Amino acid sequence: MKKLSFSAERKKLKKKRLCIFNEAYIGFCRQKAIKSGMCASHRGITCHMCSAQATQTCSKTGNLVCGAPLCRRHSDHFGQVRCG
Ligand SMILES: [Zn+2]
Ligand SMILES: [Zn+2]
Ligand SMILES: [Zn+2]
Repeated sequence: MKKLSFSAERKKLKKKRLCIFNEAYIGFCRQKAIKSGMCASHRGITCHMCSAQATQTCSKTGNLVCGAPLCRRHSDHFGQVRCG
C-alpha cells in the first residue's frame, strides 16, 4: 500500500493552496490557505517556544494531548521539553 510521506503530502497541499497546519491526531487542516500556506484561522498562531508562525500542534499525550502550537524548528519539542 502506497502512502504519501508527510513532506510529500505537505508539498501537495501547498501546491493546491490549502492550509498545511498539522493538528495533532487530526492531520493537515486543508482549509483554503490565505497566506504562507495557512488558512485564516491558523495564520498568525505563534509557536509556544518562540514567536514564529506555528505549523503544527504538539502531539505529546499525558492525561491530555499537549496541543501547544509549534513552528517547524520546534516541531520536536516533545521528548525534549516537558509539555502541558
Ligand atoms: Zn488551517
Ligand atoms: Zn518555535
Ligand atoms: Zn508539547
